[in-house]
Amino acid sequence: MSLRREVAVHTAGAVVSSISGTTFAFVFRLVCVATDWIDISVPVRNGMVHWPGDAPFELKRLKDMQQGDGLTLSYMSLGIHTGTHMDAPLHFIQGGAAIDTMPVDAMMGPARVVSIHDRESIKPAELEPLNPQPGDRLLFKTYNSEHCWDSDSFFEDFVYLSREAAAYLAQCGVRTVGVDYLSVGGFHKDGAETHQALLGSGMWVIEGLNLGGIEPGDYELACLPLKLANAEGAPARALIRKVNV
Ligand SMILES: [Zn+2]
Repeated sequence: MSLRREVAVHTAGAVVSSISGTTFAFVFRLVCVATDWIDISVPVRNGMVHWPGDAPFELKRLKDMQQGDGLTLSYMSLGIHTGTHMDAPLHFIQGGAAIDTMPVDAMMGPARVVSIHDRESIKPAELEPLNPQPGDRLLFKTYNSEHCWDSDSFFEDFVYLSREAAAYLAQCGVRTVGVDYLSVGGFHKDGAETHQALLGSGMWVIEGLNLGGIEPGDYELACLPLKLANAEGAPARALIRKVNV
């Protein structure tokens, strides 16, 4: 235990002698969750993989101090669904909410990293034992995290969320789902159906996470997309940190 953590726990101990059980739980949680944030976003860079047919990412230096300019200044162009990004309901739901209206609670708060073993797709059979609850934020770690991000070529055979699993999660009232490749739906498999089931139920979706090296378990999530007005999604930075209670 670090000195700082030890001091925090002792301080909490002094406080708890005069407070209720509920407040104790709150204070205890406050002092025990502080571990380092882990970045689960993928780097956005020239030449990176993108969905077939989507615009490639391009960053161009307009001015460059390494070339003798007085400052460095860049221009970029990209598809909205580049790298780690979020889908808003508007992506597949007529008249659905755009990304700039996303309620912040969808992307900030407790989240569970779940290990998926099925090499083809995430299916209800692997989700049912998790007993998903209304409001849950679930991040699915599949084969993709260890194998798909190494290449700048699109990986067609990635593990996706089946339409049945999407319907099941919607029925459970799950708040947020994160997947570890470029789409919740597969390549020519369940793309529209899975998106519609998730986004049509009011769920918010993160795509393009890299959960390589992340242990399954309980975390705190912070994922904030760019506030693109009336857009169906946006690139995002996603971070988690372990909850040690
Ligand atoms: Zn997307």
